[in-house]
Amino acid sequence: MWFFVRFFGILFKMEKSEQNNLMEKIISLCKRRGFVFPGSEIYGGLANSWDYGPVGVELKNNIKQLWWRRFVQSREDVVGIDASLIMNPKVWEASGHLSTFNDPLVECRKCNGRFRAEPTLGLDGEINLNEEDWKKLICANCGAKGSLSQPKQFNLMLKTFLGPAEEAANVVYFRPETAQAMFVDFKNVLQTTRKKLPFGIAQIGKAFRNEITPGNFIFRTREFEQMEIEYFIRPPKTDEDWQSSFEMWRKEMISWMKDIGIDINKVHELEVSKDKLAHYSKRTIDFEYEFPFGIKELYGLAYRTDFDLKNHAAASKEDLSYLDPETNEKLIPHVIEPTWGVDRTVLAVLCSAFDDSNPDRAVLKFPYKLAPYKVAVFPLMKNKPELVAKAKEIFDSLRGNFMVAWDDRGNVGKRYYSQDEIGTPFCVTIDFDSLEDGAVTVRDRDTMKQDRIKIVELKNYLREKLEI
Ligand code: ATP
Repeated sequence: MWFFVRFFGILFKMEKSEQNNLMEKIISLCKRRGFVFPGSEIYGGLANSWDYGPVGVELKNNIKQLWWRRFVQSREDVVGIDASLIMNPKVWEASGHLSTFNDPLVECRKCNGRFRAEPTLGLDGEINLNEEDWKKLICANCGAKGSLSQPKQFNLMLKTFLGPAEEAANVVYFRPETAQAMFVDFKNVLQTTRKKLPFGIAQIGKAFRNEITPGNFIFRTREFEQMEIEYFIRPPKTDEDWQSSFEMWRKEMISWMKDIGIDINKVHELEVSKDKLAHYSKRTIDFEYEFPFGIKELYGLAYRTDFDLKNHAAASKEDLSYLDPETNEKLIPHVIEPTWGVDRTVLAVLCSAFDDSNPDRAVLKFPYKLAPYKVAVFPLMKNKPELVAKAKEIFDSLRGNFMVAWDDRGNVGKRYYSQDEIGTPFCVTIDFDSLEDGAVTVRDRDTMKQDRIKIVELKNYLREKLEI
């Protein structure tokens, strides 16, 4: 028995340290190659703030553009908006965020550490422990026993003042989610687009939460981006009426994850139990992903009923109903809300794409459409002007069509290594033979195979391979 406990203990530890190792490798690669840097680094950083570098911003933009094309531009039933980050504070009163957007905060009297109760202490929502049980808890930071305070509710909205006077009347909040703008702008969107139910309003943008315990790289930060859709449906007469839209979005979310190369075997659907549902939700599914630091929420899908439109109509005294053009019936639509975190998407894509199983190279096997650079062009040697001139000519001819990198440092092996690390699908080398036979060597990131391609056919060859 002892042996088994010990054996599995060691196995578990090995697996855990491998996973930590993976996270360290990804963070280090991100910094070294320009995906993600610590924010304000020259001033010692700012806790848990991260900046996307030159290749990171390409990856993130590719994700956002793909999402927008897929869920807004190519769908007849979804339109987009881009709303202000700071909204009238009455929005947050009506939505319930001012009163309920709280996390339970516990403090350690010994080390003064502050924690979000559930995940840190493994309490899983069971925070109503009696005094005796609290005394048994151990501080996750300093290990002290019995030093933790009872939890108090801490509102996660980030406050600031609008205008020169820092007084209560000028308090405003950075939006904690993009969703509310879709309800607040519902009437304007309806009037300008004349959309018929069912239809959705989509938005990509920043959201802010004063998280008690941010961390795990870009997984939980205080400033992050969301991609959200509020999908308005007729008030359901039966459960089946809303379940069919819910199911449609569930499938869309799975197919999106597959499309962007998220390892679907590491995705788990968690049906949120009734007692843990948010105040507005009748049903929620969390899509969780096996991140190296644990299985955590990646995306969410919720049936928000008519909670938001009803509350905003009551608070603003505006008519937020929908007039059915056929029956002339006035109704308040219900809402299905699929929501995607952009930064968690970037992290899941990085984790899924990272492959260092070959000891000679680390490669980010992004789907081609997400790769920051699609092609890299190299002259075989940088001190041969005729090679450089030919390579520059090819580089320039491709630049209008694809994101193209130029590299003339070191040898070709090093350049392949370097492009593999940022996930560039194809490398084109111009050598002495190219000047004679008008052909170049094209090397494939995933198979490492090399093809000899005529320069006149290169653009079409790449277009076909990249499906652009
Ligand atoms: P969590 O339980 O991890 O705090 P949540 O359930 O509060 O997340 P939602 O309110 O459903 O998150 O937000 C929608 C999405 O926004 C999440 O699925 C996630 O992808 C992203 N998100 C939420 N909070 C953060 C954060 N602090 N940093 C980065 N992304 C976030």
